[in-house]
Amino acid sequence: MPPGEFELIARWFTRQSVRSDVLLGVGDDAALLAPPPGQVLVAAADTLVAGRHFLPGTPAACIGHQALAVNLSDMAAMGAEPAWALLSLSMPQADPEWLDGFAQGLHALADAHDVALVGGDTVSGPLVITVCLLGFVPSGEALRRTGARVGDLLYVSGTPGLAGAGLELLRSGIESFDSTDDCVRRFLHAEPRVTLGRRLRSLASAAMDVSDGLLGDARKLAAASGVGLRIELERLPLAPALLARWPRDRCESFVLHGGDDYELLFTLPVANAGRVAELAQATGCELHCIGEIVAGEGVSCTRGGRVVAVPGTGFDHFAG
Ligand code: ADP
Ligand code: MG
Repeated sequence: MPPGEFELIARWFTRQSVRSDVLLGVGDDAALLAPPPGQVLVAAADTLVAGRHFLPGTPAACIGHQALAVNLSDMAAMGAEPAWALLSLSMPQADPEWLDGFAQGLHALADAHDVALVGGDTVSGPLVITVCLLGFVPSGEALRRTGARVGDLLYVSGTPGLAGAGLELLRSGIESFDSTDDCVRRFLHAEPRVTLGRRLRSLASAAMDVSDGLLGDARKLAAASGVGLRIELERLPLAPALLARWPRDRCESFVLHGGDDYELLFTLPVANAGRVAELAQATGCELHCIGEIVAGEGVSCTRGGRVVAVPGTGFDHFAG
């Protein structure tokens, strides 16, 4: 017999919280949480829809991981410390095997970031997963998209593009879900840059996470700050796993347009550029300067100092 709603919540989503700021977790009508004094709450929510955000056959543990990872990445982009998660789970049936995998993926990532699952909702319906994540940041210290200034330098963390390439490898059947290929692993198991985000609070003038493609997201940052961005294409980090499979221009395209890497795009005043090497070391994360902030608007890409046209835009659910 499949588990009923209450058994399901008790078995897969109720755990002893180790966070002392969870005054009341799963079980009552709502959770009671105690944010630290002097800090502001940071809230984010992201939804994964079967067939839209993950491929058929995706292991449940990867879906559990991703549902939280996308939200952790939003916290990282704000320089926030994640703390409490709410899970709204709609699924066609309560399959214990699927729930085992899903809960394992979700709880493993939550534990790694000291996040407590404090509530949610469980309903039958199409497979749709929404996680709402709450965190905090010292008042006035949150990173925003709006602070980039002309003359600042533009950076990206890690090697974006791998996840988009991984998606393509899975979609075309070249690789399978249990592949150890770097691209596939990045797509299924991206690690949000929470530590980097926190460290950037005192250094960056603006930040956002790259979820819908570097170029499209860069345009959003430029618009929010009311500046122009110039990206030097030869500075884009091209991961060995990309170069091993595709010609250079194709790799570049993955970096510019691929989604789901959850790296951070950020701007630094030139005076802070000297701190980047130390920051990369402390966070165990490559940091690449890929351009600068200029007067004007939009994003221009250059190669050899010349502006070149780059086709394509970021992902938009409602664009035709
Ligand atoms: P109510 O009907 O009062 O909304 P529910 O039966 O929906 O209560 O939920 C009971 C408790 O279980 C609540 O504390 C709720 O936050 C929690 N809960 C429900 N579904 C989940 C879930 N998927 N993950 C975590 N907590 C959940
Ligand atoms: Mg409810």
